[in-house]
Amino acid sequence: MDKPVRVRYAPSPTGFPHVGNIRTALFNWLWARHTGGKFLVRIEDTDTARTVPGSLESILDSLRWIGLDWDEGPEVGGPHSPYFQSQRLPLYHQAAAALVKSGHAYKCYCTAERLEAMRIEQQKNKVPPGYDRKCRSMSDRERQEMESQGAKSVIRFKVPLEGQTVFNDLLRGEVVFENRNLDDFVLLKTDGFPVYHLANVVDDHWMQISHVLRAEEWLSSTPRHILMYQALGYEPPVFAHMPLILGPDRSKLSKRHGAATLTEYRDQGYLPETMLNFLALLGWSLDEKTELFTRQQLVDNFSLERVSRTAGIFNREKLDWMNGVYLRGLSLDDYIRRALPFLNKELPPDVPRPLDENYLRGWIPLIKDRARTLAEIPQLGWFFYQDKLSIAPADILIKNNQTLTLDIYHKIEDTLERVPFNKDDLEKEFRAMAASLTLKPGELFNSMRTAVTGRTVSPPLFETMVAMGKSRVLKRFQDAVQKISGS
Ligand code: GLU
Ligand code: ZN
Repeated sequence: MDKPVRVRYAPSPTGFPHVGNIRTALFNWLWARHTGGKFLVRIEDTDTARTVPGSLESILDSLRWIGLDWDEGPEVGGPHSPYFQSQRLPLYHQAAAALVKSGHAYKCYCTAERLEAMRIEQQKNKVPPGYDRKCRSMSDRERQEMESQGAKSVIRFKVPLEGQTVFNDLLRGEVVFENRNLDDFVLLKTDGFPVYHLANVVDDHWMQISHVLRAEEWLSSTPRHILMYQALGYEPPVFAHMPLILGPDRSKLSKRHGAATLTEYRDQGYLPETMLNFLALLGWSLDEKTELFTRQQLVDNFSLERVSRTAGIFNREKLDWMNGVYLRGLSLDDYIRRALPFLNKELPPDVPRPLDENYLRGWIPLIKDRARTLAEIPQLGWFFYQDKLSIAPADILIKNNQTLTLDIYHKIEDTLERVPFNKDDLEKEFRAMAASLTLKPGELFNSMRTAVTGRTVSPPLFETMVAMGKSRVLKRFQDAVQKISGS
């Protein structure tokens, strides 16, 4: 048990990783970093028919995005290279051959048609599906016969017909499986590719994996793995099967609950520190109440004992709340740096790029605390760039009176030309103006706000005007005058 900690994330490139996949990667990473062990990434790409183009890149991108660095694996290499199972076939062939030789596995010559007919028959008779072990008891002569006919074969594991397979799960304690419920599963397919079970066990052994921390869905595979460890004479790693992640309604997590792939969260404007923190709490907690953790605090505090035995609940509101917290905590520089890709993408194309830094530093602080995601920033700042506002005259008329409003707007223009263009002076002047016109400040300010921003709700009016700059503000009042005159 004092083996150095070596854990792995072993994704199959069969799709784009979701929160659950990356949560598994994170717990492995945290355990390695907490213990000073090693974190490996191994790509389980032997199911070539299910490989999805782009998914490998997306897996590695997701890990990099939230800062899960790996000590061995794709791109970085390591003492057990290669870390792609498709490039390790000889190891699996050797193991399969050794199992045949020691009598723990056998060649099965059954055709796809026979297996299909068997499956249909089993369905009809309502017996559990599984290989009927026809080839298990073949004589040497029969085998030679098949071989000489050039029959194709797979290699199957010879599961003991009785007894139990028992192992200790770090989170669940003793887990017992009846061997009679397991069928003689395939190890090596006709095309020479291993199935998951074989490649997984062989690699975990050669890569000296100390702990297998994986999703609960693999629990039922573990007795097969234990049987293989025993048959191959390997020492099994410690197993811990992570709890499921469920939606708030306790059903299987899905898109409907706002769950998406990791890169989708990035594109939606969530911060990597949010995702790291949020994922860590899906099935782990320090004390059932602390919600905010830095990366270092997670590394320091993570422990397998505190991994929950019950499902983690994915709560989208909590994710949004957390992202808001992290966004508000960013320095202005950092905030702008992270907002830029979103602004560049979403702001009108005729706004010159690169975007003016000074201008950004003026307006971003006004909306900074309102955004829950980076993707909301362009919307919140849109009117700082879009000069052609769609305003109906009725939206800016004061007391619904065209002549009065025109008169006031000319006064506004004069005032703007004259007054020092800072928040305090502007506010003082316009309050005084409202008073002298016997208007409520709101009557004047609401009209001005709409003229300047095109919106009825905005950040504080005078700060907004200052951030926008005098000439732009004047231009907007001129446009407003045009609109009113034309009405
Ligand atoms: N390739 C498997 C997966 O995609 C690995 C499961 C395991 O960790 O053993 O999740
Ligand atoms: Zn067979």
